[in-house]
Amino acid sequence: MFRYIHIYHEPSTTKLDLSEISQELANFFPTCEIDLRPPFLQGCCENGQPLDMLAETLASVRISEIKSPYCDQENRRKKSTIEEVLYEKSLILNASLRPAPFVLYDGFMLQRLYGASIPSEESSTEHAHVIFDPRLTCTFSEEDWRYHARAVICGTPSIISSTGIVEAPAKNKEFYLPEIPFEVMESNKERLAGRESTSEFVGYNDSRINSIAIGYILQALFFFITDGYPFCHYKNCRLYNAHWQSDLLRTQIKIKKLCKRHRDVLLYYQSLLSS
Ligand SMILES: [Zn+2]
Repeated sequence: MFRYIHIYHEPSTTKLDLSEISQELANFFPTCEIDLRPPFLQGCCENGQPLDMLAETLASVRISEIKSPYCDQENRRKKSTIEEVLYEKSLILNASLRPAPFVLYDGFMLQRLYGASIPSEESSTEHAHVIFDPRLTCTFSEEDWRYHARAVICGTPSIISSTGIVEAPAKNKEFYLPEIPFEVMESNKERLAGRESTSEFVGYNDSRINSIAIGYILQALFFFITDGYPFCHYKNCRLYNAHWQSDLLRTQIKIKKLCKRHRDVLLYYQSLLSS
């Protein structure tokens, strides 16, 4: 049962405001201690982890082939190039740089990498770590045998990809299939890279990101409260798993509420925490 919530900043998303986020989050978890931290990898370097090693490991969890699982890629993969490692280094050293949205990372491998850097005194279930990260996290699906972009990877730590918030929920049926067809993104690279926000789509540097971020933090925290099943089938609940931008804007901006069942689950959890 978590009593401490640690949230790590991601400065390349300029409108992301952790103090606003933590104030709203405190309404859901009034007895938890919420603390805001600098970017996760910056902290790792300050704690003495070698930059070269971090950069090399990050480069190694990139996805080079979206239609094969990570274990197969790992066997085939050549050593990361010098350019890839330098790119990762520059992102760690300057967290305000926005990474290219078309460099893809295996979300669970990234989670394992970050998890290994959490100090042992904060690795118990009392601590929930939520890392905002600009890298585009993806997971492999055995249903259609390919990678899909994900805005949130739940677990220890949870990773919320700011690029994933913009890119993972599909835009609409005319443009995109549900979740992410990378070939389409690839062919629209330039048009999409500078995406502006509109009333229908979330863009980079969009002030709505904070309300949306709360929804993803709630999913990351309910992962622990619900034994690994944080998503809701009710389409107006904040825990609804949005596959479309319209779902995201409806649940996190327009309605902004948990359903009755999840409100009750939360009340029960709050009562356990204060007992
Ligand atoms: Zn619900």
